[in-house]
Amino acid sequence: MKIGKNAVVGVNYVLDVEGQQLDASGDSPLTYLHGHGMMIPGFERQLEGLSEGDKYDFMVSAKEGYGEFNESAIAELDKQIFLIDGSMSTEVFEGAQLQLTNQEGNPMVGVVQAIGETNVTMDFNHQLAGKELHFSGSIASLREATEEEISHGHVHGPGGHNH
Ligand SMILES: [Zn+2]
Repeated sequence: MKIGKNAVVGVNYVLDVEGQQLDASGDSPLTYLHGHGMMIPGFERQLEGLSEGDKYDFMVSAKEGYGEFNESAIAELDKQIFLIDGSMSTEVFEGAQLQLTNQEGNPMVGVVQAIGETNVTMDFNHQLAGKELHFSGSIASLREATEEEISHGHVHGPGGHNH
């Protein structure tokens, strides 16, 4: 069989960005249900049609990856919200990754860019926004998903959900 919608794919991968290895599957392949938006679009698209044992090596553009860098995702926040008993939380420093809650109550992860007199500048872009991603690896396993897996939208068993 070949990789297509509703295939359960076990994939070995190495992710390089700007010549640096950022992530890798290591000893156990990543297992996912293809065609359900679990992986970034450019990754799934380029694996399509491959078979078990095939090797791959491709680039994913920012557009098909984690998105373009968005200037409007950089926010100036009132320093007051970071104060604990009147002093700056020790978790807030340049480069720190913080999870905040937006007005709709959804969690947002951002990185502290600068701490000013009255404001803290935070970047809520994904860390890999605007970056080209280099993936290489091989297809470790491949099978059809069960009806149950398709209705749940995820993989069961090894590398997947146990429930
Ligand atoms: Zn399930």
